[in-house]
Amino acid sequence: MRFDVLTLFPEIFTGYLSQSLLKLAIERGLVRIDLHNIRDWTHDKHHCVDDRPFGGGPGMVIKPEPVVECVEAVQAQASPPGQLILLSPQGRTLDQRLVEQLAAQPRLVLLCGRYEGFDQRVSDILNPLEVSIGDFVINGGEVAAMLVIDAVIRLTPGVLGDEDSGRYDSFSTGNRLLEFAQYTRPRAYRGLQVPDVLLSGDHGAIARWREQSSLERTQQRRPDLLNPSSEPSSPDK
Ligand code: SAM
Repeated sequence: MRFDVLTLFPEIFTGYLSQSLLKLAIERGLVRIDLHNIRDWTHDKHHCVDDRPFGGGPGMVIKPEPVVECVEAVQAQASPPGQLILLSPQGRTLDQRLVEQLAAQPRLVLLCGRYEGFDQRVSDILNPLEVSIGDFVINGGEVAAMLVIDAVIRLTPGVLGDEDSGRYDSFSTGNRLLEFAQYTRPRAYRGLQVPDVLLSGDHGAIARWREQSSLERTQQRRPDLLNPSSEPSSPDK
């Protein structure tokens, strides 16, 4: 799986790429992540990437020329050109279904915005898939891009130590429910016991208990997943 990340702040990714699962996946050649600085595609001597919005108003808008040229050059560097994703609060909201679709692609090109976002002609020319990580606004697309990468690599073969860990995750294909309650040692903690069935060694009974636990949690916390016309529970419920 190859990711190309186009950003004005590539250094934000340094810590993220050098830790844990992702570091191992890169070392083992399962995942490749190339960072590209959009500023390298400017032509003026001040390397200017943004300007004031036409029509007035606060903030700065990212100019179209360096972005379009950067995307075209990066996509031409290797075949296939990959699915271009523009991170934007106005895009399609990321969920596990979309993550599964993205994980089926061999290459994703992630375009991170800053300031007030991109000049509209970036989308008009490049026709990216615009993806939002939720109905809120963050300062830049870098954290959103990391979030996409993190969710997608969980589904990349070989990245998780145990392939089953991804299969039972909340929202996964064939599940679409929240994962069941999990316990580990000690068997008793502050008067709370691990359910006997999980210690029984009876795999059939454990599977039934987990199914029930998964259903109850989903009903309680996210009834909208069972019945799409209902509202998600509020956090204090
Ligand atoms: N003015 C823009 C608007 O209201 O739609 C928000 C710009 S935001 C401060 C700067 C950049 O952060 C965006 O171009 C985008 O790349 C990223 N960003 C902010 N919120 C996001 C979200 N919910 N999902 C994905 N990217 C987001």
